[in-house]
Amino acid sequence: MGIIVQKFGGTSVADSDKIKNVARAAIKEKENGNDVIVVVSAMGHTTDNLIKLAGEITSKPSAREMDMLLSTGEQISMSLLAMALNEMGHKAISLTGLQVGIKTEDCHMCARIIDIETTRVKKHLKEGNIVIVAGFQGVCKGNEITTLGRGGSDTTAVALACAFNAERCDIYSDVEGVYTADPRIIKTAQKLDKISYDEMLELARLGANVLHPRSVETAKLYNMKMRVRSSFKLDDLGTLIIGVEEMELNKPVTGIATDSSQLRIVICDIEDRPGNAAKLFNLLAEAGLSVDMIIQSYARTANNTNDIAFTIAKSDIDKFNSMKDKINSILKAGNIFIDEDIVKVSAVGAGMIDRPGIAAKMFDTLAAEEINIKMISTSEIKISCLVEKKYATSAAIALAHAFELDGAQIADVKGDLPVV
Ligand code: ADP
Ligand code: ASP
Ligand code: MG
Repeated sequence: MGIIVQKFGGTSVADSDKIKNVARAAIKEKENGNDVIVVVSAMGHTTDNLIKLAGEITSKPSAREMDMLLSTGEQISMSLLAMALNEMGHKAISLTGLQVGIKTEDCHMCARIIDIETTRVKKHLKEGNIVIVAGFQGVCKGNEITTLGRGGSDTTAVALACAFNAERCDIYSDVEGVYTADPRIIKTAQKLDKISYDEMLELARLGANVLHPRSVETAKLYNMKMRVRSSFKLDDLGTLIIGVEEMELNKPVTGIATDSSQLRIVICDIEDRPGNAAKLFNLLAEAGLSVDMIIQSYARTANNTNDIAFTIAKSDIDKFNSMKDKINSILKAGNIFIDEDIVKVSAVGAGMIDRPGIAAKMFDTLAAEEINIKMISTSEIKISCLVEKKYATSAAIALAHAFELDGAQIADVKGDLPVV
């Protein structure tokens, strides 16, 4: 038998009984004859609470100290799980990212894993241990602790699975798998038995936080078999994430995602001449801003100007504000509007390739709900529309219905809503 990597999210390790349940899941896999590596998240809302606590001290904590703080959450759950396994008569050892040798880029709060040392974990596995690894954390130059961005424990698990050439990476959560839409928003969303890496990657990037996008990216790169399954129904197989070539694409749309983490910026009256868009986006890049949707209006003939609108993450607003005066002085633009009252609603499906009419159906559906579209962006397998925030749920429900993604059965979701 091979190595199985299991990852348990915050809800799955929220209290001591749930930690004992996780221990039983790890033992079950071990008793099947596998070597087991378990990745854990922080208990329940620990990470949210730590962020809140830092906010009570300062509005501008240093990224390094935030990583020192947030990495403690996972260390609580990993040691408790090792104790639970010992108590049940099994050998287990918990390790931090530093102790494993999870090397990351030199960047705090959103670091990428660049390498994983395998020697120490292999030694402990050989000695018969279940090895527990703290999710979401690594180390960069000088053994500085880094974290991988919110939800990053999924990526720790997949990266470990790839480094150890595991048979499979199982992501256990508070849902029974990947659904056609967030089952907390659409109670009748349907569980998918399979989804392709590409579709899952789009859904995760567009707001389906059931998986950290980089975990899917890594699994796709290494062709790592991945399952999303329930911590509370250990025998359920959940959703398998596989290559698109293994899928039957019956429906044009596989899932709907909503994302309210962005805001829209509209820069008015930019002179319509070559180089101005380049100047604007170079300034934004200089400030470290990632831009998502972009729209440029038709030039107004009277004064030869146009407007450029784009979206950025809400958390980047300070970076944008620090650039605003420079943008004004270099581009001599008119007003700058910041619109926070938006949500991005997306339809994703590999089945939409070469199938005409999907965009029209999406716009028709929103129109029938009297929902105005502020921006649109598309790729081969997704269509995203920016709409007013108050329509987040009604737009998702209407689209799920239009694309036949809702069913009669109510999804079973455990745990509370995230705090943030
Ligand atoms: P964990 O703490 O286990 O990592 P997360 O909160 O990160 O769990 O992810 C699970 C949550 O993802 C679910 O509770 C659900 O609300 C949300 N979610 C969003 N979109 C989807 C989807 N398409 N399918 C399943 N869950 C989804
Ligand atoms: N504890 C971290 C978070 O809440 C990482 C994770 O759960 O994946 O974002
Ligand atoms: Mg998660």
